[in-house]
Amino acid sequence: MLPSVNQFFDSLPKKQCAKCGTVMEEQSECYMHVCTECSGEKTYPLSFQPDSKKAI
Ligand SMILES: [Zn+2]
Repeated sequence: MLPSVNQFFDSLPKKQCAKCGTVMEEQSECYMHVCTECSGEKTYPLSFQPDSKKAI
């Protein structure tokens, strides 16, 4: 008897974003350690607030 499919997938390590910890969908062609959002490298400095204090 083969092990059940569910058991097989259960034993696989879940891919998690190294930054935010979001569980990522399996992407065979992608070996990134961060999710798409984090890998997007959108630079949002904590001190940067585009919506406020733009009164120049
Ligand atoms: Zn992430």
